[in-house]
Amino acid sequence: MLNKKEYLQIQKQCESKQAKLVAVTKYRSHADIEELYAIGHRDFGENKVQDLVAKQEKFPKDIRWHLIGHLQSNKVKYIIDKVHQIHSVDRLKILKEIQKQAVKKNVVVNCLLQVHVAQEKSKFGIPYADFQDFVNYQLPEELSNIQIKGVMGMATFTNDKTQIEQEFKQLLACFNYLKNNKLRSYIEVNTLSMGMSSDYELALAKGSTMLRVGSRLFKDD
Ligand SMILES: *Cc1c(COP(=O)(O)O)cnc(C)c1O
Repeated sequence: MLNKKEYLQIQKQCESKQAKLVAVTKYRSHADIEELYAIGHRDFGENKVQDLVAKQEKFPKDIRWHLIGHLQSNKVKYIIDKVHQIHSVDRLKILKEIQKQAVKKNVVVNCLLQVHVAQEKSKFGIPYADFQDFVNYQLPEELSNIQIKGVMGMATFTNDKTQIEQEFKQLLACFNYLKNNKLRSYIEVNTLSMGMSSDYELALAKGSTMLRVGSRLFKDD
């Protein structure tokens, strides 16, 4: 069930930094989502296409669904008109497929470029060292049905604060690079999606504008 006290606390910290909270509801029950909805929450994050689609169909249509997990090209068509924002754009191929499907459904899709800054190999994203080349030389000149809103990333899962801070700084640098260089007409930057249950306070301190918090919002009953 929802840990209301914790939720309100995190929400307050977000507000003081003008950041948004995406409640990550993967693995959570429908009752948990209903509780969050009932107290006015509208931004929800899912990491799997099939879960996002099922929940989008079931729950009220004013919920903004965020896809935060890795996305395969062949699944883009299922979410294209159901998702508010895709956080996990990490290669040209997926961007082109999003554009293609968005044209078909006549929608404009908000996307974030996922950047890999963590030490774990299992995390996806454009390698930090390649980010500037990617945006300068790989992004198409025109994308009629995509808006790139910023950057998403995940720090290494560690207790080493210095390490996490270093990685958040790299994400902030990517965000600022996109924001300060008018590279493409479809890039309109306002979002730095970083910070999860274990590191959201540090993320807010380092300039996050959007947290993705899951486990911390709930307690087991
Ligand atoms: C699960 C997940 C989160 C939230 O993780 P918690 O530790 O439960 O807060 C955030 N971002 C991504 C990409 C996730 O998959």
